[in-house]
Amino acid sequence: MRLLKQCECRYTMNQSLEICDLCKKPFKTVYPPKFSLHDKYAHYRRRMKKEAETRGSL
Ligand SMILES: [Zn+2]
Repeated sequence: MRLLKQCECRYTMNQSLEICDLCKKPFKTVYPPKFSLHDKYAHYRRRMKKEAETRGSL
């Protein structure tokens, strides 16, 4: 899962960064507002179920 992280000066997707080397502030995880975490998991579950059914019918 790609998480967007934010410090006081920029955004990053680099999950290994904890402290920003520019502003020396810790990165905080932010979720893109258009993707709700709940919906994302629900979509994932539906996809897994569909794939399992497809595989079972072969
Ligand atoms: Zn920064």
